[in-house]
Amino acid sequence: MLHVNENYSKIQASYLFTEIAHRVAAHQAANPGAKIIRLGIGDVTEPLAPAVVEAMHKAVDDEAGREHFHGYGPEQGYAFLREKAAEADFKARGVDIQADEIFISDGAKCDCGNIQELFADDVAIAVGDPVYPVYVDTNVMAGRTGKNEGGRYSGLQYLTCNAANGFVPSPASLDPAQPKPDIVYLCYPNNPTGAVATLDQLQEWVDWARANKALILFDAAYEAFIRDPAIPHSIYECTGARECAIEFRSYSKTAGFTGIRCGYTVVPKGLMAYAADGSQVELRPMWTRRQTTKFNGASYITQRGAEAIYSKDGAEQTKATIDFYLENAKLVKNALKDLGYTVAGGDNSPYIWVDVKGSSWDFFDKLLKEANVVTTPGAGFGRAGEGYIRISAFNSRENVLEAIERLKKTL
Ligand code: PLP
Repeated sequence: MLHVNENYSKIQASYLFTEIAHRVAAHQAANPGAKIIRLGIGDVTEPLAPAVVEAMHKAVDDEAGREHFHGYGPEQGYAFLREKAAEADFKARGVDIQADEIFISDGAKCDCGNIQELFADDVAIAVGDPVYPVYVDTNVMAGRTGKNEGGRYSGLQYLTCNAANGFVPSPASLDPAQPKPDIVYLCYPNNPTGAVATLDQLQEWVDWARANKALILFDAAYEAFIRDPAIPHSIYECTGARECAIEFRSYSKTAGFTGIRCGYTVVPKGLMAYAADGSQVELRPMWTRRQTTKFNGASYITQRGAEAIYSKDGAEQTKATIDFYLENAKLVKNALKDLGYTVAGGDNSPYIWVDVKGSSWDFFDKLLKEANVVTTPGAGFGRAGEGYIRISAFNSRENVLEAIERLKKTL
């Protein structure tokens, strides 16, 4: 008899965005004339930068002739992209990351989800609450869970992110009654709260990880939205992070690549974990093996497009698009503040995290039904997300201004 992986049945039943889509569809069906504005799912709305489009067109031409045709590429990604990423994303910031420590992929979601394959079944894990659901669900699928107790898995430790800690938990908030985590997922700028972490806050985690032989999985998917020069863009800006951290990067929000698909993961040379007998095992060769076995690379055309983000024109154009989204975020944030709401995020992040002082699904329904505006209920990101909604700044200016007018009327 064919047995399924029963861990799948332990995952939270309703995937957040499926439930939102269901409610939006029902509302639209009941109100066919309603012009719904979507500030829910975090997908970009602006087109690719012209420099990226030009590079991709050229890459198509390469593939169209014998002379520059590319079949399977190098499994870690093309050197032209890895070298530019190492230079612009790290060396230019004084951070020591080499091109051969960068693994190009088809996006950060796969890498965030796949990385757990390198670790034993019984590792203890800590995540923020609220949290990007991928970190939790991929570990649950792999069996790294106890019971699902009211939306929390007993095998995972949840670090509450709330107004009191500025949505950035510290190692001091780890519960001594629970197993000490071997892996901690951190994501800054954060999805969903929009919070950013200071260098001191990240350094505390790095110091803790080194002292405890733990690993930080740092998701920097929204790094490009950081405008405050004091905020770190990479975990490797912290002293000693090469010894205890893996970092995920994505071109999705950086350059509108949500549909093109490209990102990368940094696994520094010399980053170690341990075998059961206590001997050290280097993670970079393991990730190389994992990727070469299960992944055949992002397309040549995609990687040429990503390379163009680092050109002078490409960098200026992509920055201008992010500035546009950040201006949207500011408009929404200020409007909600004027309406008397306590609001986090939105400064170095496309997400605005609004304290709605009540049920997040009720507030979601109110905005959907009365304002035809779609948001994301915080409860969908974890228990500590209850009482909040996430508003995304990814939309046209026209829609954002219209949504603000409607919010003003409804609230
Ligand atoms: N990490 C976080 C925190 C995200 O919010 C997202 C996308 O929403 C991703 C990773 C996925 O990025 P990608 O599109 O590169 O797979």
